[in-house]
Amino acid sequence: MSATGPDSGAVSPPPLPLHVVEQFALGLQLRNQGYRGRFAPSPTGPLHAGNLRTALLAWLGARLAGGVILLRIDDLDAPRNRPGAVEAIQADLAWLGLTWDGPVELQSRQRGLYATVLSGLRRGGWLYPCRCSRRMLADVSAPHGASPIYPGTCRRQPPDWSARGGRLPSWRLRLPPGSIRWQERYAAPGCLDAATQVGDVVLRRADGFLAYHLATAVDELRLGITEVVRGVDLWPATGPQVALMGLLGMAPPAYGHVPLLCDGRGQRLSKRDGAEGLEGMRRRGLDAPAVIGLLAAGAGLVPAGSRLSATELLQEVRPQSLAQALQA
Ligand code: GLU
Repeated sequence: MSATGPDSGAVSPPPLPLHVVEQFALGLQLRNQGYRGRFAPSPTGPLHAGNLRTALLAWLGARLAGGVILLRIDDLDAPRNRPGAVEAIQADLAWLGLTWDGPVELQSRQRGLYATVLSGLRRGGWLYPCRCSRRMLADVSAPHGASPIYPGTCRRQPPDWSARGGRLPSWRLRLPPGSIRWQERYAAPGCLDAATQVGDVVLRRADGFLAYHLATAVDELRLGITEVVRGVDLWPATGPQVALMGLLGMAPPAYGHVPLLCDGRGQRLSKRDGAEGLEGMRRRGLDAPAVIGLLAAGAGLVPAGSRLSATELLQEVRPQSLAQALQA
């Protein structure tokens, strides 16, 4: 990816204050210590079987590598958060024996950091104000789902950051043209064309909400994440996140986008549709070894009907078999 946008006038690396540069430098040091993974649920409800399987795979990948796994809670989009969900997520993971390292990382505690990075990007010429309609911005808060590529309408306008008609503009990333590439552990390397397949994503919504892409890119760097294991529905989100990390002068982690669990009708499980969580499974009489067996069998790691604890699964699975199961 080129470092400057040719159609953008004066752009330069984002000027970041020393405390931010230091946080990224610390993240880089952590990265050099070995495998550092994370599981990053949104507290929009209890984890369903698909989320739990992703958590298991992220945990397994880290533990098999003798590495670290962090629990990050993506709670920036406050209206979507459900009371008690953060505690429920922790309790569910603990019940399954999926331990994590260090304190739980709440994105809501890092708003100041994200805002500082954002203003650095703005001062460096990497953002522009956008007043396109709400419908066009509908993709911003949710990390999932196919989002339309922004046609760049406001990119070519003289920037006006002020409120108009009582409404502030949203802030879009002026994405430099070129290919955005990243390493995939279980699939061909990721590659997206910035202009035609990613587009200028919103980093700050008109209502002041900071976007998931910004927070996630900053967090992977700050926390020194080397491996991101998450659902394949987030594959397209990797483009803007990797591009942002590049603009901040940093290499991205490697990614393992894992298949999603689908219901009987082939639809991916979703919290919105009330997909079953641990509570339902417990009501059906399943205990933790049964659930681990079910999740692991679903990922092709153990035979169907297996009953085993998370620690026993760790002893059972070889790193190569994890890779093979996920490549399939
Ligand atoms: N919090 C988002 C989710 O639950 C994104 C996770 C990620 O980047 O791994 O889907």
